[in-house]
Amino acid sequence: MNSSGVVLPVYTAVRSCPDDDMPARPTPAPPAARPRVVIVGANFAGLRAAQRLAAAAFDVTVFDPSANFEWLPNIHELVSGAKRPADLRLPRRRLVARAGHRFVREAVASIEARRGRLTTARGRVHAFDFCIVAVGGCNETHGVPGADRYALPFKSVDQCEAIRRRLAALARSRDPRSVVIVGGGFEGVEALGEVLRRYRSRRHLSVHLVEAGPRLMANAAAKIDAAVRRHCAGLSVSIHTGVPVARVTAAAVQLRDGLRLRSDLTIWTGGVVAPPLLAASRLAPRARQWAPVEPTLRSQRHPNVFVIGDAAGLPRPLAKQAFHALEMGECAARNVARAAAGRAPLAYRPSRTPLLVAFGDLDTFLVAGRAVVANPAFAAGKEAVYQLTMAQIDPPTTAQALRPLAARAAGLARRLR
Ligand SMILES: Cc1cc2nc3c(=O)[nH]c(=O)nc-3n(C[C@H](O)[C@H](O)[C@H](O)COP(=O)(O)OP(=O)(O)OC[C@H]3O[C@@H](n4cnc5c(N)ncnc54)[C@H](O)[C@@H]3O)c2cc1C
Repeated sequence: MNSSGVVLPVYTAVRSCPDDDMPARPTPAPPAARPRVVIVGANFAGLRAAQRLAAAAFDVTVFDPSANFEWLPNIHELVSGAKRPADLRLPRRRLVARAGHRFVREAVASIEARRGRLTTARGRVHAFDFCIVAVGGCNETHGVPGADRYALPFKSVDQCEAIRRRLAALARSRDPRSVVIVGGGFEGVEALGEVLRRYRSRRHLSVHLVEAGPRLMANAAAKIDAAVRRHCAGLSVSIHTGVPVARVTAAAVQLRDGLRLRSDLTIWTGGVVAPPLLAASRLAPRARQWAPVEPTLRSQRHPNVFVIGDAAGLPRPLAKQAFHALEMGECAARNVARAAAGRAPLAYRPSRTPLLVAFGDLDTFLVAGRAVVANPAFAAGKEAVYQLTMAQIDPPTTAQALRPLAARAAGLARRLR
């Protein structure tokens, strides 16, 4: 407060008291001069982009229909109850506000890149100079009849919680019950691991894992398939590979080879497909296709749009992974700043980070390209990645904010013991 009792803006105070170690913060430009940036989708890629765009330089508005950031790489642990929903969620409004930006809790219905405007599901129109699209992917059911209606998807905290509740009810029954997991990629393997972590002693609960490809996790070395089968020997688990699903009904999963698997709960982990918004906004040439981008993540169709995370169709396709999405968020923020300054954007260079695939408490696989190393102790590594990245996304600033971090760390310590 100055002598006249007027509260000075923080940046004025910093300018008048420069610190040798800290460059004086530049005076923010008047709002009208700041380029308007909209970010559509605020999970890994979009949120990271928002956190890297300086509020002093850009007028940023972030759109997402759901209230919470969700840490998806560990949602399988909800199925066994090893994690609770609150462990995996962070409130978006607070995170976006902390970065100095506006959060609008609404889905975006269309993006008109040429006109520099978007329209939300409730009909609000918002103008922009740059748009960052980070809408991820949708559950892919490959058009299998009944899959949308009768199978539970495995793509969000709410969906995995619903699976946990259904499983718990089946486990309480005294009659034989059957669970079918469709998809033998890393999501399917992680789902099976969590069912076994919690219920492998319940002999009345049988589990089927169905994969259309010749083996589980067909993109990785055959070692994972062999290790999963070894762990399942002697348990009430059947693994069906090389046979696609023909139809899902309320009580069964019908395979193309004629086998009918009775199912009290069908879990669908069939991968992701591009959301309709991409083609509807002419960022992708056709429905179900990812938005083609240049190596700089700039849309091949609209120079004022960057597409990042799972939604981006890079010239050299990349695994749809959270750590790539985070890196792309950083790259897009940097490239928006460069484009606004009239400089050429830089190419995105993905790092080579190995993937950790958990198989409940039975094993964890470290996958680097086609190489695989298996060791249950890697579970602590997966937990550490989760802890550290969550703390990076939401760094604690007060003693109160340290509490969730401390609770997560205590959980890790318990698990390690
Ligand atoms: C079960 C499971 C396990 C996984 N395990 C791993 C793992 O171990 N390691 C790893 O690296 N990756 C893992 N992944 C993949 C990883 O989660 C994704 O690659 C990552 O979430 C992609 O980030 P994203 O920001 O592009 O999209 P998402 O995280 O999917 O976020 C998209 C956001 O866009 C919002 N949105 C969608 N449509 C609109 C719209 N029209 N308007 C506004 N907002 C919209 C959504 O609400 C959402 O918040 C896993 C995924 C799943 C499902």
